Amino acid sequence: MMTKVAKMICPMCSIGCGLDVFVEDGRVVKAEGMPEHPINQICPKGASLHKLVHHSDRILKPMRKVNGSFKEIGWREAMDVMRDNLATLRATSGPDGLMVVIGDAVGLRETRHIPAWFCKLYGTANMSSTGSFCHYANKLAMNYTIGNYLWGNFRGAKCVVAWGKNYPASVPITAASIKRIVKGGGNLIVVDPRKTELAKIATFHLQLLPGTDAALALAMLNVIIGEKLFEHDFVEKYTTGFPALAAHVVQFTPEWASEITRVPADQIRQAARLYGNSRPAAIGFAATPEHNVNGIQLVRALCSLVAITGNLDVPGGSTYLDHAHLQHPRFPHEIDLSKRIGHAEYPLFSETKDEAQIVLFNQVMEQESPAIKTVICQATNPMGTQPNTNRLRKALARVDTLIVMDVFWSETAKMADLVLPAATIAERVELCDHGYAGSVPLMCLSNRAIDPVGEAWPDWKLWFELAKELGHGEQMPWNDIEECIDFQLAPLGLSVQQLKEKPGGIWYAKRAEKRYQEGPLNTPSGKVELYSQRFADHGYSPLPTYLDPVATLENGEQVIRDYPLVGATGARVLAYLHSQYRQIDNLRHLTPEPVVEIGIATAGAYGVSNGELVRVESPQGAVVMKAQVSGDVMEGFVQVSYGWEGEANGNILTSDTHRDPISGYPSLRWFPCRVRKLSEPGPAIRTGG
Ligand code: SF4
Repeated sequence: MMTKVAKMICPMCSIGCGLDVFVEDGRVVKAEGMPEHPINQICPKGASLHKLVHHSDRILKPMRKVNGSFKEIGWREAMDVMRDNLATLRATSGPDGLMVVIGDAVGLRETRHIPAWFCKLYGTANMSSTGSFCHYANKLAMNYTIGNYLWGNFRGAKCVVAWGKNYPASVPITAASIKRIVKGGGNLIVVDPRKTELAKIATFHLQLLPGTDAALALAMLNVIIGEKLFEHDFVEKYTTGFPALAAHVVQFTPEWASEITRVPADQIRQAARLYGNSRPAAIGFAATPEHNVNGIQLVRALCSLVAITGNLDVPGGSTYLDHAHLQHPRFPHEIDLSKRIGHAEYPLFSETKDEAQIVLFNQVMEQESPAIKTVICQATNPMGTQPNTNRLRKALARVDTLIVMDVFWSETAKMADLVLPAATIAERVELCDHGYAGSVPLMCLSNRAIDPVGEAWPDWKLWFELAKELGHGEQMPWNDIEECIDFQLAPLGLSVQQLKEKPGGIWYAKRAEKRYQEGPLNTPSGKVELYSQRFADHGYSPLPTYLDPVATLENGEQVIRDYPLVGATGARVLAYLHSQYRQIDNLRHLTPEPVVEIGIATAGAYGVSNGELVRVESPQGAVVMKAQVSGDVMEGFVQVSYGWEGEANGNILTSDTHRDPISGYPSLRWFPCRVRKLSEPGPAIRTGG
């Protein structure tokens, strides 16, 4: 039997490991780490690629809902339906009645620009993505503080701060390097309400109440500035607003923060001294800080810590992400930003991400005549990932036409009018910039291993074909994705052919450091902005600050009397990425079911035993999961599993109205809740509309 090996980049999380994908008789049979690629320590997800590709539950044909049931149709009919719908929509309601939403399977790779190009050609301002609640609040805060995206670069760090990021579950390769640092005598500070694997080997585990991180960061600034542990020369030359910041943080003592965070003041002081005295020291964080009402100000505080201690853009500190400047087509007309959802409410988010803030979708759809008529979801499952599932279900039901393109039948796909079969990464060519996904300036091509299964289309093909059908073929003139990628790569002097010849990738830039020495930063003043005049101009606090989550919640005091526990959802597990991969048997074996993690005393107070089914209730709804009682979980807090369907969907509990005032990001990591034994009477579980 002939075995072919395709060189691919794993799409199953943002790291992008190199894969050797083995093909026999037109079927993917296994995947291993690609020897030529610098990141090749693959995890169980990557090793299960063949099970994803050939899973029997895949959507293999276009399906149209007729009288409540799906019937198979051909692509020609599907294209006719979409062309007629979009042409009529543009002529009657205007192009902004179309909302396009893309997910990580598209959004993490460079062909993610294609749906955005289509939206600009069609004329809608309402392109959106998971960027409405993941990573781009960080980018907004970083852009306005230090001018670019920042990434913890741990190699050579004397001290690592893992802030709300559980590396063994999300980036195992980085977890391994943190463990090596600790073994070699380096220090580790873990900020997490759970005693995680890394917290157990940390010098300091700052076990704080979720939603209070900004208070902790401000207290660390208080100590570092008060005890003069900052880099005077750096502050003098490369920052603006230091005197204002120094005066501002005097009030945020460790004792003040201790009252809010529940972390002992002495521990805060010692951890701040450890970070402030270590050179280089790196702070690593991802989406957790964004998911509460202090998200932007917390990230500004973290960037301020990095900058004033001289840990900005140095190896072993926190470094800027490189990413390639690819080519984009020219568009014949400007989109109308006044029609973009969230542009008026969150102008800095709209500007940074150049997208609609989809968290406002529910309230838009509750208007008498909703502005959005057609929604196309590609590689995304809003019913699993967006806040307040019950409200979202009603909002999606008010859309005239819902189109979903995906690999499997997600909860969102089941609600759709038209469902389109999507090819997996093994069936399509992709361009992967590790600057974006892995913080190194390395460009790779993920090659196609097999022909599309069934009638699946690669994601890009939908947009190329729709553009042609709607008269925009001239601006999207490519016959296949390789022509398009050559167009994208032109400014780098690279081509698809060159990338095919170098499966381990081509370095498109040298790793740089201390880029603030080379010229102005990409902030309004060209310096690190500890004080942001742009924030002040928009009516936001120009200095990092702390908002009490209860005070920002409508009827907050009453709500927390009724729902006295703090809940959070969104924590990663190694087996899955968001709502994906639960169909794959060996991954399901690793994490077979959703759980609510709860401390021993808290469980005792509610009469809950380990392994018992419980109902978790919030003002938004209720879920049922098994209780996992553990001394590793902070008391008064519950961690609710994320990404599951039906009555175990953690986003039933989250609010879409309790938002960061600058980014619009929902407070997914802080919501009031309570727990009941399932045997106790309680309100009926509502997972439906
Ligand atoms: S770590 Fe991420 S990119 Fe690497 S094999 Fe696992 S899922 Fe794929």
